[in-house]
Amino acid sequence: MLPADKQAAASLAIENSEKQLAIAEAELARSLGYKLCHCQFPPTIMLAVGYADPRRDVKGQVYECSKFGYDTAAPWAFTRTKPVSAE
Ligand SMILES: [Zn+2]
Repeated sequence: MLPADKQAAASLAIENSEKQLAIAEAELARSLGYKLCHCQFPPTIMLAVGYADPRRDVKGQVYECSKFGYDTAAPWAFTRTKPVSAE
């Protein structure tokens, strides 16, 4: 067990490392062509969850933010091929 001041410093170092990792992941995802949701910083990587109804304005794959569930198409305008994320 660490003393309280060292414990706080260790917690802060871990928190900063996690943020840097999330930024690196977002940069990698962006370079690979993934969409990023701007609901928080570092940004959340959006994953494909289905395909759009071809009669709608949005075409092709539909992407979803895993944090807050924002979809790039309205819920009734696409066919979901991946279960709703539980994150
Ligand atoms: Zn989001």
